[in-house]
Amino acid sequence: MSKDTPYRAKKSLGQNFLQDQNICRRIVQSAEINEQDVILEIGPGQGALTKFIIEEGPERFMVLEKDDELASQLLDQYPSIEMHEGDALEFDWNSLNTLNQCKIMGNLPYNVGSKLIWDIVSQVKTMERAIFMVQHEVAMRLTAQPGNKTYGGLTAWVNNFADTRYLFKVPPTVFRPRPKVDSAVVAFRPLPMAQWPENPDALAKLIKMLFQQRRKQLSSILKKKWTKGVELWFENEEVSPKARPENLTPDQFKRLSNVLSF
Ligand code: SAM
Repeated sequence: MSKDTPYRAKKSLGQNFLQDQNICRRIVQSAEINEQDVILEIGPGQGALTKFIIEEGPERFMVLEKDDELASQLLDQYPSIEMHEGDALEFDWNSLNTLNQCKIMGNLPYNVGSKLIWDIVSQVKTMERAIFMVQHEVAMRLTAQPGNKTYGGLTAWVNNFADTRYLFKVPPTVFRPRPKVDSAVVAFRPLPMAQWPENPDALAKLIKMLFQQRRKQLSSILKKKWTKGVELWFENEEVSPKARPENLTPDQFKRLSNVLSF
């Protein structure tokens, strides 16, 4: 593509590019970057956030972009960045665990945002902080309280690994092309590792099983797995077996997964 041809955003890659410099600056400032930081930006696109991250002068700056055309343009513009061209869904998050610490950020493509956050918070043990812009509805889900109708599997999972904080809403008007819905920025701070689930596979299975039938009572969903241990768990936690999945706190999901066998 010639330099004079306007770039056509790819819908399939969730390309909505941020145009508002103040919002870009605000997102980057939320990461509180310092000169010792290792930063990973997911989906830098045309570099709306990239530019401000570079200004903060992190020690190391990696970016992960699936669109090869945008990746090579960005590398031409900022040769000092470490470009990982490829699909973030296939990125080996464990590879970041050889670092001392890292911060991860990005204006995530809508279609893969929840999946990426699910994987990142539970796999990157060296993550100090993450800042992600996601669809507003996903931001509400990530930060929902038990009992709320937006509280779901993603909430229960993510909040077992990190504290989530809703930072601010971003309207469609500041993007080109404009998305159909609002976006919002969410901050993640990992919980101490001692609080992480001992058996994440069992927790993931439990969360998926319960939220597939979120309108049912827990005793009914868990009928086939009901043992004396499970019954005692409900008694000790003072949770009614008639409660529904959305009534359990993230911590209760973790403890319940410890007394069930999968
Ligand atoms: N950061 C830029 C901004 O704020 O203007 C672009 C954000 S745009 C919402 C999402 C970016 O993620 C695009 O650059 C897109 O090409 C990239 N992307 C989409 N799917 C991806 C994936 N699976 N892995 C890596 N990057 C992806």
